[in-house]
Amino acid sequence: MTNKSHKINPLDVAMKQADIAAEKLKLDPGLSEMIKQTKRELIVHFPVKMDDGSIKMFTGYRVQHNMTRGPAKGGIRYHPDVDLDEVRALAMWMTWKAAVVNIPFGGAKGGVQCDPKGMSLRELEKMTRRFTWEIAMMIGPDQDIPAPDVYTNPQVMAWIMDTYSTLKGYSVHGVVTGKPLELGGSLGRFEATGKGVFIAAQEAARHLGLHVEGARVVIQGCGNVGGIGAQYFDRAGAKVIALSDSKGGIYNEKGLDISAVLDCKKKYSCLITPEARGGEEITNEELLELDCDILVPAALENQITHKNAPKIKAKIIAEGANGPTTLEADKIFHDRGIFLVPDILANSGGVTVSYFEWVQNLQELLWSEDEISERLTRILRRSFGEVLNICRKEKVDMRTAALMLGIGRVAEATKLRGIYP
Ligand code: NAD
Repeated sequence: MTNKSHKINPLDVAMKQADIAAEKLKLDPGLSEMIKQTKRELIVHFPVKMDDGSIKMFTGYRVQHNMTRGPAKGGIRYHPDVDLDEVRALAMWMTWKAAVVNIPFGGAKGGVQCDPKGMSLRELEKMTRRFTWEIAMMIGPDQDIPAPDVYTNPQVMAWIMDTYSTLKGYSVHGVVTGKPLELGGSLGRFEATGKGVFIAAQEAARHLGLHVEGARVVIQGCGNVGGIGAQYFDRAGAKVIALSDSKGGIYNEKGLDISAVLDCKKKYSCLITPEARGGEEITNEELLELDCDILVPAALENQITHKNAPKIKAKIIAEGANGPTTLEADKIFHDRGIFLVPDILANSGGVTVSYFEWVQNLQELLWSEDEISERLTRILRRSFGEVLNICRKEKVDMRTAALMLGIGRVAEATKLRGIYP
């Protein structure tokens, strides 16, 4: 994994990606600068009383990148490596992503620098509630709506919603998405990102004349995105031959028993136990280079660089994670004819169903699972088609095409709104 001291700055990657698309779109340089800048950034340092009675200080961030097309939207991450530039980059990708699928949201992201695995549930709850209180002036159903990201989940969203509602004096369901169903969460939200990655990979396979059924699939990360994605590939008759978590992966060229592997992960927080045998142990680095048809990076940023890109054997890469591939690796894949479905398209199922959840909350409606699945599939297929058309017409790779679609829509909205005063 990426060594912290040599960490590639995801903001540099995000900025350069935006420059490439802006140049292709021939955007006015001032406009291009304007839409790359973050709108608002909040850094908070706050104390939490830990279980042993000690006081620990935490640093948290909420960044709103752009709200031209609607309220800001983006997850909250709990991870030791969270920093301002990472949150800025993730917020920027959220803006382009919402525009790619053409839903009326802007982009935001947040996070707390912490080691959630070393904290008790009680400590996580206290940290979440205090962090929510600290950023409460920035969030709300009309302004900025958080959601789960790495190491946050529906329970964390429930604590945010409860804390925010306590501050307001009434229940505000629409302040977060990805909530438990009992608190106004939407059917299909928990599965949405993994399912969306599967749909995106299906579209890519269709485009290349390949079949998902029988395809060999490798997935890095088995959380909300990777774990759910693995289940969708498995159900469609693909062979998921490798899956990993932060500690390493499990590999079986004949295909893993996905439900057994995920049960084991749930029970022991680990993939490699005697119960989950049926596969051999591999590192995350080895996993990415396995011979396969579809590779789904679904963990963290900068996993695929110029160093390992030449060794990657997949025919399709569907980015479940945000920013898993560097610009140099993009170029290598383009030259090698590897078809990459970029993050802002491949993992947009999450923000799409988050939008459905928000709409249901505001209108106090409940949609059925079928309605949600049908709308999600339609939006993702349409967006894939739109990106592919740009890719063909402009002779650019899929990432540049998706950025051109997203950034183009944000630029157009910005021009229409004009500059105040
Ligand atoms: P999660 O916390 O549910 O799961 C993260 C997974 O990554 C876990 O299996 C963890 O073990 C693994 N992991 C962590 N560090 C790793 C490492 N160093 N090497 C290999 N694996 C590692 O998080 P998630 O929600 O599944 O998010 C994963 C990625 O998908 C992130 O990039 C996130 O921003 C992106 N994403 C998530 C959503 C969503 O709706 N949750 C939406 C869009 C994009």
